[in-house]
Amino acid sequence: MENCVFCKIGAGETPATVIERGDGVIAIADLNPQAPSHVLVMPLAHHATIAELVENDPATAGRLLATAAAIGRKTGAQRGFRLVINSGDDGGQTVDHVHVHVLAGRPMSWPPG
Ligand code: 5GP
Ligand code: ZN
Repeated sequence: MENCVFCKIGAGETPATVIERGDGVIAIADLNPQAPSHVLVMPLAHHATIAELVENDPATAGRLLATAAAIGRKTGAQRGFRLVINSGDDGGQTVDHVHVHVLAGRPMSWPPG
């Protein structure tokens, strides 16, 4: 997808700190981290939202979640982690290429604001 920053990162056209890559999924460090460890996991192919990804490519949706949970286990160690998928305007999504936030390294409150 033209002009999509995460497509460009996946294609290597825009620099990012790549945590891991494989099976149609890439994990990168968030540019503006909200926790000591803040990783974004996304499909290489462009899908705007989690709902679209689940509908159009459920296998990749499963890999996305598996990769995010594995990174959470690694970065959060025994203390745990949080996965977040923002969707649409009310969901707080600012980049329209589906991604899972993996947050770890500090206690997190609930509910979100
Ligand atoms: P959203 O609000 O869509 O759920 O989250 C978008 C996330 O992408 C934000 O946490 C933001 O810091 C991150 N982000 C936006 N642009 C870039 C970029 O060019 N590189 C990286 N690594 N992260 C980005
Ligand atoms: Zn994209």
